Amino acid sequence: MSETPEKTLQIALVAHDACKETLVSWVGRHVAFFEAANIFATGTTGGLLKEHHPGLTVNAFKSGPLGGDQQIGALISEDKLDALFFFIDPMSPMPHDVDVKALTRLAIVYDIPMACSTATANCIVNYMSQSV
Ligand code: PGA
Repeated sequence: MSETPEKTLQIALVAHDACKETLVSWVGRHVAFFEAANIFATGTTGGLLKEHHPGLTVNAFKSGPLGGDQQIGALISEDKLDALFFFIDPMSPMPHDVDVKALTRLAIVYDIPMACSTATANCIVNYMSQSV
């Protein structure tokens, strides 16, 4: 991992295909917040974030269906994440549905802030911006 130690926040960003555009533009609206963070993302999401927001520190794992969701889950289980923004597509069946469930479950088990759509994501960013 190429995380930068002086960045105080450790944030995971994941978006299903139908939600990737939404996530990328949402990150653009909160770029000052994300500039202060080490970002961990699943492979395709991470690639898009690097392309559209080259100033951010993005560590891209494997693609979600190939284990990326589980790599992010491992970070949660090691207490290495402060928040998870997981833009889930509620309309499409997923071949890796069990990984989606496992990742959201771990966020609950370890009680880290988790947003699955923009409304809650805005709340978390606003709250965390006041706390750092
Ligand atoms: P991706 O994975 O960013 O590699 O598309 C997201 C997912 O979990 O489906």
